[in-house]
Amino acid sequence: MHTTKIFIKKNKIGNYLKHAREHYIRDDIYCGFEICDKCTRATTSLSSKHVNKCGLIKNNHYLILDTNVILDQIDVLEENLIGNVIILNTVLKEVKHRNMPIYKRLISIIENPSRHFYIFINDYNKGTYLKQELTELINDYNDRCIRKACSWYIEHIPDENFVLLTEDKNNRRIAQEENIPAYSSKYNIQGVIIVIIRGYSNLNRVIDGDVVAIEVFDKDQWVSPSELVLEDDTINALDDNLERKELEISKQRTLKKNIKPTGRIVGIIKRKWRQYCGILQEGSAAVYHLFLPADRKIPKIRIETRQAETLKTQKIIVAIDSWPRIPISQRSYYNRNKSF
Ligand SMILES: [Zn+2]
Repeated sequence: MHTTKIFIKKNKIGNYLKHAREHYIRDDIYCGFEICDKCTRATTSLSSKHVNKCGLIKNNHYLILDTNVILDQIDVLEENLIGNVIILNTVLKEVKHRNMPIYKRLISIIENPSRHFYIFINDYNKGTYLKQELTELINDYNDRCIRKACSWYIEHIPDENFVLLTEDKNNRRIAQEENIPAYSSKYNIQGVIIVIIRGYSNLNRVIDGDVVAIEVFDKDQWVSPSELVLEDDTINALDDNLERKELEISKQRTLKKNIKPTGRIVGIIKRKWRQYCGILQEGSAAVYHLFLPADRKIPKIRIETRQAETLKTQKIIVAIDSWPRIPISQRSYYNRNKSF
């Protein structure tokens, strides 16, 4: 079965030309669920063993993302917490069109089978394909296609829960009217992981990438991220007392409005130590030296070596072997030098 897509395009010399493109609708596109007995099987990364849970949606569920969620939350999506995500082809094309670097990051998540992301070719599937109305804007059309795919999944796999995440209020409202559970990503993905950890001791010897257990502090200790970098220079520069007070009040208001949870790391569930590339810090003496990793998210590492003189002029690779509860840095061993 096929349908014909007709669109008008302006050519180089300014004439409008009518183009027609054949669009083949298929009935053999796999939904990605192993339990499904209606579709022709293909490979899938979706897994019934992976569990997505959050405060708002108690039951395990599969996520369908709108384009804006991917564009805004790619950092969060790259974390290993969320899985069983269905990426509709409509959304994938829109992400590619709007932001190539984010598209590439998304593809590398999808290509990692342990993340359980699945591309569903909704725009070529008989049950989910929709024809764009003549007066319909592309954005409205894409939203309609996304909602259609959600309803289709809800009906196709009735034993599972599906949740649409979208930052678009209108799309969310219409989806809810069509009985599709729809939320803003703030309720689902953001709330789960953003906790500000202040101070070295609260970091509890964690290294970027470790999976940790966090204790969230009481609300009166929460801070605004801008509070951490706010300078008082503007306030001091003002002579007028009243003006200064007003500025302080508005500053407090902004801070209150944007407060985020704070907490401390109480335990490390899984270490993700790897090898780090960097250089020896200048001025070190004797057997113990400080190693400066090239990655600024990694702290300085104390290493033991008698070859400091030779190593000082080279880039080296270091692996951490232990991190005892003593101040300054970790103990570790020099691994090998890296030639560049
Ligand atoms: Zn199926």
